[in-house]
Amino acid sequence: MSSMTVMDNGGPCSFCTNPLPVGRAVVFCPHCGMNVTLAQCPACSSEVEPGWHYCVTCGRDVSALPPIPGTAKRDVNG
Ligand SMILES: [Zn+2]
Ligand SMILES: [Zn+2]
Repeated sequence: MSSMTVMDNGGPCSFCTNPLPVGRAVVFCPHCGMNVTLAQCPACSSEVEPGWHYCVTCGRDVSALPPIPGTAKRDVNG
């Protein structure tokens, strides 16, 4: 059993929807240059860094946001 990769994206970029590299840490999209590790505040679209519980711009509770929108697969299997 090998250790799991921490940053294993592989989903589409949430900004330009181009596919991101798989099997390596991806912070910036190679296609559009956006930081793909940031989520967006649903209220004001400000960048929300991983681990944040509240938006620094509008104060909205963003603790329920997925870490990387677009790559989170909604598997409702069980
Ligand atoms: Zn992109
Ligand atoms: Zn906000």
